[in-house]
Amino acid sequence: VQAVFRSNLSHLLDLMGSGKESLIFMKKRTKRLTAQWALAAQRLAQKLGATRRDQKQILVHIGFLTEESGDVFSPRVLKGGPLGEMVQWADILAALYVLGHGLRVTVSLKELQSNLGVPPGRGSCPLTMPLPFDLIYTDYHGLQQMKQHMGLSFKKYRCRIRVIDTFGTEPAYNHEEYATLHGYRTNWGYWNLNPKQFMTMFPHTPDNSFMGFVSEELNETEKQLIKGGKASNMAVVYGKEASIWKGKEKFLGILNKYMEIHGTVYYESQRPPEVPAFVKNHGLLPQPEFQQLLRKAKLFIGFGFPYEGPAPLEAIANGCIFLQSRFSPPHSSLNHEFFRGKPTSREVFSQHPYAENFIGKPHVWTVDYNNSEEFEAAIKAIMRTQVDPYLPYEYTCEGMLERIHAYIQHQDFCIAPGPALPGAHTPQSPFVLAPNATHLEWARNASLAPAAWPPARSLRAWLAAPGKACTDTCLDHGLICEPSFFPFLNSQDAFLKLQVPCDSTESEMNHLYPAFAQPGQECYLQKEPLLFSCAGSNSKYRRLCPCRDFRKGQVALCQGCL
Ligand code: UDP
Repeated sequence: VQAVFRSNLSHLLDLMGSGKESLIFMKKRTKRLTAQWALAAQRLAQKLGATRRDQKQILVHIGFLTEESGDVFSPRVLKGGPLGEMVQWADILAALYVLGHGLRVTVSLKELQSNLGVPPGRGSCPLTMPLPFDLIYTDYHGLQQMKQHMGLSFKKYRCRIRVIDTFGTEPAYNHEEYATLHGYRTNWGYWNLNPKQFMTMFPHTPDNSFMGFVSEELNETEKQLIKGGKASNMAVVYGKEASIWKGKEKFLGILNKYMEIHGTVYYESQRPPEVPAFVKNHGLLPQPEFQQLLRKAKLFIGFGFPYEGPAPLEAIANGCIFLQSRFSPPHSSLNHEFFRGKPTSREVFSQHPYAENFIGKPHVWTVDYNNSEEFEAAIKAIMRTQVDPYLPYEYTCEGMLERIHAYIQHQDFCIAPGPALPGAHTPQSPFVLAPNATHLEWARNASLAPAAWPPARSLRAWLAAPGKACTDTCLDHGLICEPSFFPFLNSQDAFLKLQVPCDSTESEMNHLYPAFAQPGQECYLQKEPLLFSCAGSNSKYRRLCPCRDFRKGQVALCQGCL
């Protein structure tokens, strides 16, 4: 069956159920964004033309909202608790629905069981039963529940699962045996999924799929109106919880010399003691009123927490400049409580790395807050700087629809992955050394062009500098690491073509392989396909990195990827 774009979301609102504050928040958001989704669907339909889109049957099981996993979020929706997850789930549901797929939504174990055909009361169904869904979107909590309640069929069907995972899961943490042996400990378990089955809120590491969310878009008239109506001395502080203001008196004092400071901190009856009297605190605002506040403000300022939420993108989309602190040393699961136990070693160099690296100046200023002069100078410079509202394409409704469409049509983790070592499968290696002898390219005349996605012709392979990760190596060349290309490089032949002088070649399980170790001139190949990883580095190794191009503003997709 062909999928047909939908522009009326009222049936989706019914599917989402009711009762919980979290669902109420999500439904309000979906309703408010209906017109934007409809317009985006129209545009994407035009862009795709006659491209065939199969309709999938999709189950969305939002594990963290189930009572069985404690549902700690719903009671905090009106109290300044995290809303980013709910923003993202609301947008995922909207995107899947607008794309025209068959949708079921569950937020309790009972509903999950009835949709999976497990009789309620029975712990799990021991028999392998047919699964009525092509795809299941869930989170780590939901994954655990499915494992407990699907019996044997969990193993059979887990390739259909997509895990919404805000901060991402690196391959070294995903592979049970490897993680256990090498101390990649997590609170979230080891699932041996294809790392691309984990879908993140921002494009952290290309080892995972970037899911994202949307921010409200402005038309030209609105943009002009906003630019005219900005109060050049108005600042809004990022953060809904009072705790983020603790110990920030010095910065607030400096900022207060130049600007009127506004906050949206939740409070019960009186002003939270952490928020100084000179701050205009509006209390936690409904989302549309928060947007209105951002439209008037010049500056949106972060004090280090929360990490990587939607609000800075909304601020920038509404014409604010975002000022945030640089973290030096960077925060990570090794040194910060918040990230401890999360399945990633990613180092976070500022409160919002996406804003810093993908947007940057003039919209985003990342400065060292320990240096009061630098901080003060930034505020003064920001007050003089004019910016236009800006929203990266990948965070528009159209961008999100385009990306999810591409994933649904092209990502298939149920076909067995190729072997880590190509061996007999690549009688002739399909790439050649580029004319400037810096990297490998797909050979123009190579007959071997697998039907894989993304298309292998966009492969560019580089030997990283010692101690560099493939994520960074590719970015340094204006490209993005593409883990699905690793198998093409995992051969002696690749080293040979790159003129790497291997004295010997060994094949082992290591998330940094394929790589070349300078001392000893040894070349290492990857033995375990699940461990191919863009993330990760060690000064001992020069990694062999598969990169590809990407579209400006849509980093998940290569030029020929739709
Ligand atoms: N938000 C809101 N009212 C406010 C402040 C923020 O509704 O007073 C919304 C905001 O529009 C954003 C969401 O809260 O979409 C999550 O924002 P944040 O970046 O703070 O991430 P979180 O830590 O909540 O996940």
